[in-house]
Amino acid sequence: MATAEPTVSTDFVREIVAEDTASGKYGGRVHTRFPPEPNGFLHIGHAKSICLNFGIAAEFGGQCNLRFDDTNPTKEKTDFVDAIQADVKWLGFEWNGEARYASDYFDQLYDWAVQLIKEKRAYVDDLSAEEMRTYRGTLTAPGKESPYRERSVEENLDLFERMKNGEFPDGSRVLRAKGDMKSGNLNMRDPVMYRILHAEHHRTGDKWNIYPMYDWAHGQSDSIEGITHSVCTLEFADHRPLYNWYLDTLEIDHPQQIEFARLQLNYTVLSKRKLTRLVNDGHVAGWDDPRMPSLAGLRRRGYTPEAIRDFCERIGVAKTNSTVDMALLEYCIRQDLNLRARRVMGVLNPLKLVIENYPAGQTEEFEAINNPEDESAGTRMVPFSRELYVERDDFLEDAPRKWHRLAPGKEVRLRYACLVTCNEVIKDENGQVVELRCTWDPESRGGNAPDGRKVRGTIHWVSAPHAIPAEVRLYDRLFATENPDDVDDEGDFTDNLNPNSLEINTHALVEPSLANAEPGERYQFERLGYFCVDLDSTPDNLVFNRTVTLRDSWAKIAAKGD
Ligand code: ATP
Ligand code: MG
Repeated sequence: MATAEPTVSTDFVREIVAEDTASGKYGGRVHTRFPPEPNGFLHIGHAKSICLNFGIAAEFGGQCNLRFDDTNPTKEKTDFVDAIQADVKWLGFEWNGEARYASDYFDQLYDWAVQLIKEKRAYVDDLSAEEMRTYRGTLTAPGKESPYRERSVEENLDLFERMKNGEFPDGSRVLRAKGDMKSGNLNMRDPVMYRILHAEHHRTGDKWNIYPMYDWAHGQSDSIEGITHSVCTLEFADHRPLYNWYLDTLEIDHPQQIEFARLQLNYTVLSKRKLTRLVNDGHVAGWDDPRMPSLAGLRRRGYTPEAIRDFCERIGVAKTNSTVDMALLEYCIRQDLNLRARRVMGVLNPLKLVIENYPAGQTEEFEAINNPEDESAGTRMVPFSRELYVERDDFLEDAPRKWHRLAPGKEVRLRYACLVTCNEVIKDENGQVVELRCTWDPESRGGNAPDGRKVRGTIHWVSAPHAIPAEVRLYDRLFATENPDDVDDEGDFTDNLNPNSLEINTHALVEPSLANAEPGERYQFERLGYFCVDLDSTPDNLVFNRTVTLRDSWAKIAAKGD
């Protein structure tokens, strides 16, 4: 499925694909894949890869497979498989046919390994992990060949089969390809193809006691599926010679691996290992905690698939790593929600405002615009009465001259309703302001001054007898530092967690039109930001997540750059 963006920008990956289709390589076919390992939820970095792989397939009339790279049974779970599928669909993409699994190819991979043994290109090695490390050499020193390297084909076949049958303990032997122990590329120094692991696999159960390494599985899986362009992140560039060597040696269909820079985002981490830590150590409430950069977290926070795809389009695809500013992601969601979110009024820190010259017990309604960006969203009626709540921050007792909000003697506009002037400030025994006594101008119904006098400030409000209590979860960045990995030697990235990343407000009041707000619905609370109804929300206990504030800091950055 194509993305919503009508304009398609190009990049070096798309240029390679365009050249290949023009030259008729792969018969003009374009077939990509997205290959997540089901050991965690997808994050915004994966979204970049998804948009690239599915986007290319759509633009070139090709296909994109979803393939689970499930070669490491100890960390993989069916729950993650399900979550990943849900997230890819939510982002707006459809994979070709059924989801695939590297584990579907375990038999074929085994047969190919046997073939390499017979061709004297692979051998069973008994060196310990420690010994293997020593023999491998370093970037500056060549490696040494294993004393087991010249075993006979018969002995290798026998040992490999017995490895498969579970006769040997974990880690006691491996199957290795005969590469070149003097290669400048460490990946080519007799790479491990199989390791012994007596582990239950989420799909193959206890059938296997050996599991293929990523490098032995990936290229061949691509080949089996007829992938033409195998797009991956830069850290795999050093693996490309091995990817090619396996495919050439096996003489099977040969896709092309292309590497691009992975997404890095400031104030967060995009490594599944670290995200898993945050979840398992209880630093967040789960993979879908709205502070997480996971797609499930962003969705719960109120992000839309459109905003995430827009973000991926804007960051582009490059060959060198760089860090993207979180403000750009926030800009994208603001842009999208500005067009589609219904405006409502809610007060986070209520301060009572009584209109002394408004009859007690009387109620009237004012018409409010649902979305100034979208006329079809229509209007709604908002109830008004003698007792209201306004935002505590909108009142200052000793206001400077340029203060246009509430202050003693100042007139302000209550959005959609009328003009009011504050006459008296009531305080409790601690001197805390607890109530404002005001008068309204009955001629200003709707909010306009009858004589055209100028009233600069407009504030939001709710009617006290009509307002609904709500819990509001206000999120800040998960990490306090731009680069969470910036720690000293004994330090750990969790040291940089922002202790104030979540503020739970249980005294907010919202207008009554939100009484039946459903989880997942998104609103703009006027002047406060964009909010999304949380999964925990019920009609008796409304819960909103603040997706993002209204302040648009990215616009300033962008404008400066122009
Ligand atoms: P992590 O480092 O978070 O554990 P991974 O590469 O191990 O990520 P996979 O599930 O193997 O995670 O990733 C699936 C695909 O998504 C791979 O092709 C990988 O290159 C790509 N990918 C992962 N992280 C990013 C990122 N930050 N930016 C772009 N693509 C990414
Ligand atoms: Mg990986």
